[in-house]
Amino acid sequence: MADGNRKLGKYSVGLGDRFAHQAKAQLQACMVALEDGIEVIPVWNKSNREHTIIGSEPISARRAADAAVKELGWKLPYFCDADHITLQTVSRFYAACNFYTIDVADSIGRPAPPEQINAFVASHSDLLGKIHLEGMREILEISPDALRSAAQKYLGAVSQAGEVYRAILDALGAGNFIPEVSMDETDNAHSPAELLIILAAIADEGIPVQTIAPKFSGRFNKGVDYVGDLSQFAREFALDVAVLRYAVKRFGLPENLKLSVHSGSDKFSIYPAIHETMQRFDAGVHLKTAGTTWLEELIGLAEAGGEALALAKDIYVEAYAHREELCAPYATVIDIDTARLPTPEEVESWSSEQYTSALRHVRGAAAYNASLRQLLHVGFKVAAKMGNRYLDLLELNESVIARNVTENLYDRHIAPVFLGREGHAHLAGRVSTSSGHSK
Ligand SMILES: [Zn+2]
Repeated sequence: MADGNRKLGKYSVGLGDRFAHQAKAQLQACMVALEDGIEVIPVWNKSNREHTIIGSEPISARRAADAAVKELGWKLPYFCDADHITLQTVSRFYAACNFYTIDVADSIGRPAPPEQINAFVASHSDLLGKIHLEGMREILEISPDALRSAAQKYLGAVSQAGEVYRAILDALGAGNFIPEVSMDETDNAHSPAELLIILAAIADEGIPVQTIAPKFSGRFNKGVDYVGDLSQFAREFALDVAVLRYAVKRFGLPENLKLSVHSGSDKFSIYPAIHETMQRFDAGVHLKTAGTTWLEELIGLAEAGGEALALAKDIYVEAYAHREELCAPYATVIDIDTARLPTPEEVESWSSEQYTSALRHVRGAAAYNASLRQLLHVGFKVAAKMGNRYLDLLELNESVIARNVTENLYDRHIAPVFLGREGHAHLAGRVSTSSGHSK
């Protein structure tokens, strides 16, 4: 597995596959992209939290990815991402993963020793004053106070990232994995100037970071669209891309360094801004999705009807009953209007069409219900508890589920972000529409 020079391609997509049954359908979306002339590298990501809730081991995600790659004959690189790991959780991923999302959001604000802060500030007078970023009219300006306060806020977190990076390095060897640093799971957005200072610190720490996930402004709720100021996001995203480019040259970071957007899935309204910025700067991006595929499993089950629809309904009923417990770990990244949640009795009476149109995220569709979607997004624990009843029906209804998974990924995510348009994966028979299910 070691080739010593692992490098993430310009365009890549992070794929979540909670129950490790959809890797092939997900990879199919990258195959369709390839037919459309664009290389989008698949990265299967699963966090320790997810493994814990589901009761799975990282090697299961690796095996599913390997099998899909083999079956479809995928010739380009692919990766398995130990998502949001820390020093405490990283070791269980060594045998399975070649991509590590080093999460240090919890260490933001944990102060580094004063002498370390002083040394950083003293050695980075190059960050002070006006910085002209290529391709931007806007000038970044960092004052001595701003530099010191950013150092106080972030140096401890970056040191922590260095510690985790070196642990992985010891285990796997240099160049055998992609390091990402993530700070997205925090409340305050990072300004482009802060991002630059963070990158300087990451370079000082000797982390050859290939992707970085800052906290962007606005809300990135799970499974639903972006909530925030679109023009502010567009401006900030362009500045961040320009900052990365500057940092690569200035600090000698890997030339393929790019932003990782931990989207929480379905941030459709910012996709045009992301695409335009990528075009403008000829820049890459890593678009991390998670959870959207699990919802497509539910949509496929509901669409299949019969026993599978009954299961999809049972999952909602259970999730509704345990909504407080299920939502608690995700409180900062969901906004559910409980008045908008249908009652279990209502859902029990639904047809396939009613269930799928409430859950499927089609913008502007009258039946689409964002509250129901968010509840089910965090409700995968309910399916995990069902064990084989859930997994058996996934397997029995594979074709209808796979079609939904592939179309969702390609049409709503890959095509808008990387090609700048809506996708139509079903055209030209590129996605099988044969359905081995009974309605
Ligand atoms: Zn994240």
